[in-house]
Amino acid sequence: MALLSVKNVGASFGGFIALDDVSLQLHEGELLGLIGTNGAGKSTLFSVITGYIPKRSGSIEFAGEGIDNLAVHARVWRGLARTFQVPREFSQLSVFDNMMAAAPGLRGEGLLSLFLSPRQVAREEQQAAERVNDLLTFLNLAKVAREPAGKLSGGQKKLLELGRLLMLEPRCIMLDEPFAGVNPVLIEELSLRIQELNGRGMTVLIIEHNLEELSRIVPRMYVMDSGKVIAEGTPDNVLSQDLVREAYMGGVI
Ligand code: ADP
Ligand code: MG
Ligand code: MG
Repeated sequence: MALLSVKNVGASFGGFIALDDVSLQLHEGELLGLIGTNGAGKSTLFSVITGYIPKRSGSIEFAGEGIDNLAVHARVWRGLARTFQVPREFSQLSVFDNMMAAAPGLRGEGLLSLFLSPRQVAREEQQAAERVNDLLTFLNLAKVAREPAGKLSGGQKKLLELGRLLMLEPRCIMLDEPFAGVNPVLIEELSLRIQELNGRGMTVLIIEHNLEELSRIVPRMYVMDSGKVIAEGTPDNVLSQDLVREAYMGGVI
């Protein structure tokens, strides 16, 4: 069964049709790619799935449940988390504090927290800090944990953004151009971390226009052009199709 199912989705900006009858299935535990030239509608599709942009038609299901009427945060709470094409960080806060800020709230948040003892609060904080340290080690950011996030390289900012996403303990992560603007050494690092997460059971959907990088790591991909899905299959199969070659020759990659 698909973990995420996008069925015949349409979306527009004013009179401009950005998504035209788009359908996509992402299976539990899958590492799936989504490629397309600049302006194909990839980021818009992410925004519609995660609730940032309303759709005109179609439906979206996650974990067997219709999520069309859920707010952004409610989709995140169900385990659907995404990154943005341009990573955002609190540049003056340390890398560690950026991660802590992404920690889910105390279990006794709100009125209940009034009944939590300072010791319980300290224990929750301690647990979040341990999780942050584990993730920073996993992402090879432990050595810069005390640096202001604004000082990180482009690639390290992408790793930090992935870390902040993982603090939410999602079921499915959707990454918007994780390799864009990242130097080759960190591309390899990021790529390995993503594959390792998937190996541990995380469901992953990656948007990329770097065909070469994505083809190396995903077993299956969709191709979008002008708001439509024009192909789906293994990288070899997809990239040999005339429609896909034409789209890539005609567009800005
Ligand atoms: P991709 O991520 O594949 O490069 P986008 O989803 O960002 O493409 O954009 C798809 C199309 O929708 C583009 O033509 C873009 O200019 C347009 N578009 C995206 N966001 C907006 C917006 N907020 N308002 C108007 N047009 C938009
Ligand atoms: Mg684009
Ligand atoms: Mg985009």
